[in-house]
Amino acid sequence: MRLSHTLVPTLKETPAEAQIVSHRLMLRAGLVRQTAAGIYAWLPLGWRVLQNIEQIVREEQDAIGAQEMLMPTIQPAELWRQSGRYDAYGPEMLRIKDRHDRDMLYGPTNEEMITDIFRQSVKSYRELPQMLYHIQWKFRDEVRPRFGVMRGREFLMKDAYSFDLDYASAVVSYRRMMLAYMRTFHRLGVNAIPMEAESGPIGGNLSHEFIILAPTGESRVWYDAAFERMDYSPRAVSHESEADLERFFVQMTTPYAATDEKHDEAAWARVADKREGRGIEVGHIFYFGTKYSTPLGLAVAGRDGAPVTPHMGSYGVGVSRLVGALIEAFHDDAGIKWPDAVAPFRAAILNLKVGDANCDRLCEDLYAKLRGNALYDDREERAGVKFADADLMGHPWQIVVGPRGAANGMVELKRRMTGERQELDIDAALARLG
Ligand code: ATP
Ligand code: MG
Repeated sequence: MRLSHTLVPTLKETPAEAQIVSHRLMLRAGLVRQTAAGIYAWLPLGWRVLQNIEQIVREEQDAIGAQEMLMPTIQPAELWRQSGRYDAYGPEMLRIKDRHDRDMLYGPTNEEMITDIFRQSVKSYRELPQMLYHIQWKFRDEVRPRFGVMRGREFLMKDAYSFDLDYASAVVSYRRMMLAYMRTFHRLGVNAIPMEAESGPIGGNLSHEFIILAPTGESRVWYDAAFERMDYSPRAVSHESEADLERFFVQMTTPYAATDEKHDEAAWARVADKREGRGIEVGHIFYFGTKYSTPLGLAVAGRDGAPVTPHMGSYGVGVSRLVGALIEAFHDDAGIKWPDAVAPFRAAILNLKVGDANCDRLCEDLYAKLRGNALYDDREERAGVKFADADLMGHPWQIVVGPRGAANGMVELKRRMTGERQELDIDAALARLG
């Protein structure tokens, strides 16, 4: 895209309403704009990042055999009355009436709906186990929406649901999903530590939160640095082998890791290599047995023909929260430093002298060769403004084209993450970008 005709409303000043760095940078880099408290419009750059994160989440769900689908945002209250959660959920639920005076709601989560869909169509033990997921907007009327997209009211979540015949099989699904989560966060470039969690309003008895360290995190966390050295790549762990999954699970749940609620000073004292700080919850997984299948009447014919009530689990990733969480992890005073895997564009092309024939020709050539992977700063602006905006937006590479270099076919290539710079001819520069 050409920056001169792209909606990237960068700000020089720090917006007063933003308390944490990711929120400030998301506003300053023109990624989002707030439209109501805790509700955001995703502008072109922010939307590209969100989609990149979503795609990595999707690929790792698909890799363990979860099936993608899409459930609606609006749900009938009736299903929630059947599970008993319509009253239990409280004021976080946005309740709506349609023109026929029927009670509807904007889904804060989808256990009831997926259980309803499943009970209508799955009849036999032979069809289990199954895992289904969707990536869909949720609404929770949070008391205190804050920190930008990190605690919004409308937010994008990947939520998956597992259906198994018995407890033993449900545990395998749970471990498999934990593996997918570790791989997802690793690909996003962050260390997310699974920590045993209280199971909260969704209920159940096997539950982990995935927490990444950041000084502005909402909870305090303590963990053993052994987590940072684990290998759960497909080479080390096969998602199809129950023995591998068990070994993986034991490995992930033996080193010390705790949030406020579960912290134990005596156990912590025995940890050799300590990591502590504040953490952001980016995912949460639960096994909850038949909590929904029983009240909603989900049953399948078992091996002997008698009805069996499936065991379920649910598995969430905060896709939009991750945009903020990644910025918390990757930034400096000048702006965002996107990891390659999620960057809105691979490179920014900075034309330092629009109108100079050599600069224009070289930039156009680069722009064409980078085919959609570059944001071309073709604005009639001072070089200083272009440098500052490129650092703020945080593209992994900057290709700086000035009149002196351009006359000899040379450009300067800057790596945003490290600050490293090199003078190269255009072919060498393109080769470095890969
Ligand atoms: P939290 O403890 O942060 O309130 P939760 O336990 O209510 O989260 P879940 O129901 O487990 O969250 O939702 C799954 C994931 O969705 C969370 O791990 C988090 O990453 C994300 N999420 C939850 N609430 C919000 C929100 N208000 N804004 C953005 N993301 C959210
Ligand atoms: Mg939680």
